[in-house]
Amino acid sequence: MSVLPIHFNDIAEACHRLKDIAHHTPVMTSVTADRMTGTKLFFKCENLQRVGAFKFRGAYNAIAQFSSAQLKTGVVAFSSGNHAQATALAARMLGTKSVILMPSDAPQIKVAATKGYGGEVVFYNRYTDDREAIGMRIAQEHSMTLIPSYNHPHVIAGQGTLAKEFFEDVGVLDVLLTPVGGGGLLSGCALAAKTLNPQCRVIGVEPETGNDGQQSFRSGKIVHIDTPATIADGAQTQQLGEMPFAIIREYVDDMLTVTDAEIIETMKFLAGRMKIIVEPTGCLAAAAVLARKINVSSKTVGIVLSGGNIDLLRFAALIQG
Ligand SMILES: *Cc1c(COP(=O)(O)O)cnc(C)c1O
Repeated sequence: MSVLPIHFNDIAEACHRLKDIAHHTPVMTSVTADRMTGTKLFFKCENLQRVGAFKFRGAYNAIAQFSSAQLKTGVVAFSSGNHAQATALAARMLGTKSVILMPSDAPQIKVAATKGYGGEVVFYNRYTDDREAIGMRIAQEHSMTLIPSYNHPHVIAGQGTLAKEFFEDVGVLDVLLTPVGGGGLLSGCALAAKTLNPQCRVIGVEPETGNDGQQSFRSGKIVHIDTPATIADGAQTQQLGEMPFAIIREYVDDMLTVTDAEIIETMKFLAGRMKIIVEPTGCLAAAAVLARKINVSSKTVGIVLSGGNIDLLRFAALIQG
């Protein structure tokens, strides 16, 4: 058996760090969705988390453990998505500075949001630059600490607090589904869920075009793919992180995929019926259930809606398309 990067205790400690700091997000239900699937569905609304996604949990849990020397110099992150905003806000709350590397063609709205949370944005060219190398150089030159968005024990433990909170609110679930990009969310949640109910089936959901996680899960080794074409931009990762993968192999039961069309149907359902805006990546787990990619009848099923950050005009265009 491999040595796992974190244990349940790390998640319990992260819960204490995040108490009254991260939002305790609501759990929603839908009679219509229950009738459609013949089951009892619970939706954990991380689209209503600070910065609009669960990423705040991991980023805050990581920076909260900085030494005073680390706090003096600050944190570096590379992300064009929710980890950027999460790191910038968490850094500001903990009184340290953040440098966020973003591609020069990142959506203006995300750049503005990251700056709004106090992050210093540094641009790179996504076609010619190696962002990891640039991030490492900045971190080294300024003695700053690099916090990756999923391949880090404190980040994984932070994301795991979501599942612990979910179980505390609705009781023991039979099935838990989460979206998957680099695997930080799924691995943290799987460890928490299996500790609280070893019988719980834990399932990760990816876009069909980007099923590297499913391939890795089935083959037992990390599979690398080209950047997939999908509207689920938070899941356009090319491979799972090593730390998440070690936990996923141990605790995850299956990996499923959904199409972009199924994601769009789910965005429409969540907005139309449940009155909530969920970004494409945030819909992955819900789409697997609503599109019957899994037989869940007569079970209690937990679905993680992982984020809600999408430009409203883009949202409108997608649901009209
Ligand atoms: C980052 C992100 C994911 C994927 O999380 P990983 O930990 O990389 O697997 C899913 N949904 C949203 C909204 C995200 O921002």
